Amino acid sequence: MNYKAPKGTKDILPYEAHIWKYIEDKAQNILEKANYKEIRTPVFESTELFTRGVGDSTDIVNKEMYTFLQKGRSLTLRPENTAGVVRSFIEHGMHRLPSPLKLWYKGAMFRYERPQAGRQRQFHQLGLELFGIENPCADAEVIQIAMNFLDELGLSGLSLEINNIGCPECRNEYKKQIKSVIKPKLEDFCPDCLVRFEKNPLRILDCKNEKCRQLLCLPEIDSVISRDFICESCVAHFEELKEYLKTLNIKYTVNKKLVRGLDYYNKTVFEITSTNLGSQNAVCGGGRYDPLVSTLGGPQTPAVGWAIGMERLISLCKVPEEKPLDVFIVSDNKKQALKLASELRGLGISVDLDFLARKFAKQMEKASKTGAKFALILGEEELKTGTLTLKNLSTGKQESISIKEIPQRIFSLPLNF
Ligand code: ATP
Ligand code: MG
Repeated sequence: MNYKAPKGTKDILPYEAHIWKYIEDKAQNILEKANYKEIRTPVFESTELFTRGVGDSTDIVNKEMYTFLQKGRSLTLRPENTAGVVRSFIEHGMHRLPSPLKLWYKGAMFRYERPQAGRQRQFHQLGLELFGIENPCADAEVIQIAMNFLDELGLSGLSLEINNIGCPECRNEYKKQIKSVIKPKLEDFCPDCLVRFEKNPLRILDCKNEKCRQLLCLPEIDSVISRDFICESCVAHFEELKEYLKTLNIKYTVNKKLVRGLDYYNKTVFEITSTNLGSQNAVCGGGRYDPLVSTLGGPQTPAVGWAIGMERLISLCKVPEEKPLDVFIVSDNKKQALKLASELRGLGISVDLDFLARKFAKQMEKASKTGAKFALILGEEELKTGTLTLKNLSTGKQESISIKEIPQRIFSLPLNF
């Protein structure tokens, strides 16, 4: 049997893992500076959490969930993490913690989609959620953090699109108008959009089908989409958000067709896209979801958040080379080599060694192949005299040093062994 990673999944290989770590460390640093705390929730939850929390008119719930029965209970691999974080927020009474409560997460998500460039079945998101603030200064903060993070990773060609999709009250009027203008052309839309037309017409604006996208550009449809149906308080919220973004020097464009894929959003929605990605060009998507906490059984709690697609992000950024190994020990005395390795590691030096005690020439070859900065030669002679040979593998220079000098040579560390 020839085993392969399942379609739509990818191994993160040893020589790629440092890229992930670099990006995750950078995110953690930025998020902690803004007082976000990490939360880790299970990769599977009860199916109902997603049907209620993500919405049963979404593609995610209708077509993309990995669901399985376990002793009669329906469980689903998380397709996104907001529902899980909100479940945890409610379960642990986090509304009683000082507000705003700021959380962030990273991890694998699962969606049964057609695998293609930038689209996998197991992919990774890094995201944040801010609970407890209704004012758009919270929306502005989360957007600013996303832009700052992507900026610090040196990404170019980014654009931020924002929209306000109204609140449950004013959105009804918008839905009505969209339905009336789409109805005459309904037969030309894709089968999915026919369902959306009945269940959640706004989602038609999010359809990826090329023909549907063209139909939405027809002047009679486009002019309706471009009109403002949102109520006064939503308009005020949107205007205030724009003010904040201006103050923060964040450029944006308003895209009236931006609705996003999940049902629970209200008011602000936003997306950050990159011109350097192919057709799957969204790096970050987010928005406000004030009704979700109460929909899932918690107290009414306004909230806003975003998620970044890690694979798409990684394809866009240049990451510094992995730090090389400090020392490779070359020795025919396994006991002493192991002891030395353990002592040096204890001092913060990265060390590897040859476990086979092969010929010195072979070990030196291996030392070079590992990319180590130094080879540390510990032979019988060296053991007798208490000195070692330290060879700089990039210059080829070598010198005799005492064990005590090693950390100083390598790091300028205090000598305490
Ligand atoms: P898209 O429009 O590309 O399908 P989405 O609206 O489904 O994105 P969200 O649910 O908002 O995406 O997820 C946030 C981010 O996660 C996206 O902007 C994208 O970068 C990433 N993402 C979503 N689905 C996938 C996937 N199947 N494979 C890789 N990354 C993904
Ligand atoms: Mg999607």
